[in-house]
Amino acid sequence: MTAPSSQPSELDASRPLVIRNATVLTMDNGHHVLEGADVLISGERIAEVGPHLEVPEGTMEIDGTGGILMPGMIDTHRHMWQTAMRGYGADWTLTQYFVWNYLQWGKSFRPQDIYAGNLLSAIEAIDAGVTTTVDWSHNLQTTEHADAAADALQEVPGRFVLAYGNIQAAPWEWTATPEFRDFVSRRMRASNDMLGFQIAFDVPPASPDFPEKAAFEVARDLGVPVTTHAGVWKVTGDEGIRLMYENGFMTPQTIYVHSASLSPDSYNRIAATGGTVSLSTESEQSAGQGYPPTWKLRQHEIGVSLSMDTSVWWSADLFSAMRATLSADRAREHLEAHNNDETVTNHRLRAEEVVDWATRGGARALGLDSVVGSIEPGKKADLVLIKNDASPAMFPVLHPYGHVVFQAQRGDVHTVIVNGRVVKHDHHLVGTDLAKARQVVEETVEYLKGELGPDAWAEGMHPEIPAAKRLDNPYTYREAEAWQEAAASDGAS
Ligand SMILES: [Zn+2]
Repeated sequence: MTAPSSQPSELDASRPLVIRNATVLTMDNGHHVLEGADVLISGERIAEVGPHLEVPEGTMEIDGTGGILMPGMIDTHRHMWQTAMRGYGADWTLTQYFVWNYLQWGKSFRPQDIYAGNLLSAIEAIDAGVTTTVDWSHNLQTTEHADAAADALQEVPGRFVLAYGNIQAAPWEWTATPEFRDFVSRRMRASNDMLGFQIAFDVPPASPDFPEKAAFEVARDLGVPVTTHAGVWKVTGDEGIRLMYENGFMTPQTIYVHSASLSPDSYNRIAATGGTVSLSTESEQSAGQGYPPTWKLRQHEIGVSLSMDTSVWWSADLFSAMRATLSADRAREHLEAHNNDETVTNHRLRAEEVVDWATRGGARALGLDSVVGSIEPGKKADLVLIKNDASPAMFPVLHPYGHVVFQAQRGDVHTVIVNGRVVKHDHHLVGTDLAKARQVVEETVEYLKGELGPDAWAEGMHPEIPAAKRLDNPYTYREAEAWQEAAASDGAS
């Protein structure tokens, strides 16, 4: 930003704001890339995009020279409450995750612990350029927990969607309570494009009489979308999709998370009903839901958005999601080709499309495509400036989409704007209380350590490593032995 308007105290002012001379990835329908362009923001919206814009007197300026300006990234599935346990499950499989959260310790989380995780996760999101995040909040055991989750989301100047869930009870039970209805009318009736609402639950093939039907009917009655973990190896699968389809609950608003272990028939049902898949590639690769399915989704023309799932394992970093997703898709293309004794000579999936999934794809999935997801006049101003003059990885910028996917990282996020408001500038958060988040998260960690005790705490973090059988090797490296013997006798002489 040009002096003297670079002071953070002035960034909240209701003055227009212009970002000058950036490489702009508009992500509009034509995916236009504008070199040396300006973007003018007035109030909550993008007013104008183009070179050398004339701006009103008193407009604040941010210098985008050398930077890439793109729409704010959108994460369509993140269990934000788990950020209080950041990194704890780095070595987990899905089995350990289920045991720890669903069976053992998830119910220990109090409302203030949900608040702590959500607050930190929300701040982390905007810091990393993720301007919209779906909080897949599946530990709302009481509406006090839900109020705590919503309080945290409303305290941070990002755009959020609260996806209400509760793994400690059946969805047809908790959606039927008067407390749940009361929460929805108190907190979500007046929901706006800064805080949306979904209902979050899964459909395991536990019961053929489809008790989840009642929860779907509540969602339909409230007019809100359902988001569901579908196609999770040995947990949810084709049977759940079939029941949803035959009962008329698959809609264009439905978000199917992972969708990694499904038959072609299930993908056909998703495609035919216009739903989208939220892909968490790092999660699918590491936890075991199934191979990240973009290579199949592309064939079925199913819309894709990206997500990071949970910071109990992974970061909340969509650069990482884009990189992992493009790599996993290409790895699979090579593998399939090699199995047929063929060679992939041209990649189908391009960096450009993955940037689309991280921005516009999320907006489409959330029904926010007319609001955010691209840099076009009239849309809400959710923008990320990727620029880092101190980084040797930020020049030259030759292939802007490729640069975003394979070169840039969250440390290069210079400025973040949400709903026209600067929430990060010159690599520093603006108007966000990180110290408070640190304090409440420390309190939660101390409390949980006390609840578990030192043994369970350590066991939970370090699951057993299965015994590995060393393979027989018919070869022996005798030359090395001979050399060592010769060296030993030389030394002795
Ligand atoms: Zn999940």
